[in-house]
Amino acid sequence: MTSLQFDVLNPATEDVLSTIELVDAKSVDETVRRSAHAFETWRSVEPSDRARLLRRFAAAVEGDLENLAKLETDNCGHPINDSRSTVRGIVDAMDYYAGAPERIIGQQIPVRGGTAITLHDPIGVVAVIAPWNFPLMIAVWGMMPALAAGNSVILKPSELTPLTTLRLADLAREAGLPDDVVQVVTGTGSVAGQALLDHPGVAKIVFTGSTEVGRKVMTSAATHLKGITLELGGKSANIVFADADLAAAAAAAPMGVFNNAGQDCCARSRLLVQRSVFDDFVKILVPAVKEIVVGSPMHEKTEVGPLISSAHRNRVASFVNDDENILVQGGTPNGPGFWFPPTVLRSDDGTAPSLNMEIFGPVVTIMPFDTEADAIRIANQTDYGLAGSIWTRDIARAMRTARGVRAGNLSVNSNSAVRYPTPFGGMKQSGIGRELGPEAPLEFTEKKSVFISNI
Ligand code: NDP
Repeated sequence: MTSLQFDVLNPATEDVLSTIELVDAKSVDETVRRSAHAFETWRSVEPSDRARLLRRFAAAVEGDLENLAKLETDNCGHPINDSRSTVRGIVDAMDYYAGAPERIIGQQIPVRGGTAITLHDPIGVVAVIAPWNFPLMIAVWGMMPALAAGNSVILKPSELTPLTTLRLADLAREAGLPDDVVQVVTGTGSVAGQALLDHPGVAKIVFTGSTEVGRKVMTSAATHLKGITLELGGKSANIVFADADLAAAAAAAPMGVFNNAGQDCCARSRLLVQRSVFDDFVKILVPAVKEIVVGSPMHEKTEVGPLISSAHRNRVASFVNDDENILVQGGTPNGPGFWFPPTVLRSDDGTAPSLNMEIFGPVVTIMPFDTEADAIRIANQTDYGLAGSIWTRDIARAMRTARGVRAGNLSVNSNSAVRYPTPFGGMKQSGIGRELGPEAPLEFTEKKSVFISNI
């Protein structure tokens, strides 16, 4: 392997899946130039034709479902059934945004002496920088609204997980999208990612990843006056009130955090349970955690796969030390692979270090609370504000708590986080801007006012 290449591993087996090129800043510059050229073609494609091509793109992805799902599983360690759901989910999102080109609608505003209208112009080259945890989903969520609005897109996956993103670009070409409207740059964040941030030809950066790199994105965007969307970390609370359906809340809690081995920005990694039902809740939770099937992601019954890398496993393990009170731990397979067991830590006084850091692994800390006000206060005791869950049968309590918790995405009696028809994004250190939802394509346009004189 030369210094310009990188071995992409299967995290469940540690086998090399593929060797990719790590591009340099010069190569990124060429990609941006091609993208700028493609933008001029794509923006002038009639809205109905753009919609038709995007529908074909969605159909091509659907036709490749099993292949994409297997590739995502091999490269990221997602259980195969989760990967199939991912592909079905992105096809739905693609179909949704394929309908958008003909629905990007301006205004007619009453003015003196003529007529004023607003137009929504596409902004140009959009770079989507994605992390390794959900490469396909995150690429599609950024890419599709941008394409629908008439922009060209450059995808920058993590070098750990580029395989499905590369396949996505092939499928765009096969579906008939003009050349270079969707391109991929494979490379490290510090070289290829940074080159995209610094390139004057990139109009907007859609970034998902750590808060630390998110700050770099914002700094660079300030220098070049680029638009940005930042989807960053989380430390979300799952709040269970005494009046909740306890069995349902406890049954759902494990996969609310252990889904994708906890490598999920929306993972409910703090479990707050009202003191009067705490012991009853724990009695249901403990066997549910022990029963989680951790193993080969290709087995149909697997619920939790490996972590993404050896380095990340070391990082996750560093949070589970002797100071922590382990309530229950699941199992892991023997042999190769970056495994870590589903782990529940207990913190009766709410002081455990694990309550404050985004671990990004299969680790949740459970703690009791007394009153509704306590639950809201504790849920807000974090720099992050991405997601959260509220379990109660009292709708007024659910609404008061949803208003009180400072997070962008809350679920009542559910741990679901992202639904493409609704806006998604974080408060505080969890990000800036919103993705998805019906207005997402407008985020990739610039509003232009045109005045037509009566004379
Ligand atoms: P990073 O923020 O380091 O990376 C995210 C993406 O940004 C990757 O494509 C990365 O490239 C790229 N990148 C890194 N540095 C730069 C740069 N200077 N300029 C432009 N792009 C850059 O996140 P990690 O993937 O390493 O994960 C670290 C932590 O971030 C996790 O443990 C978790 O806490 C959080 N995270 C949050 C996610 C979320 O969904 N909100 C998702 C993933 C991580 P490359 O990886 O190729 O170097």
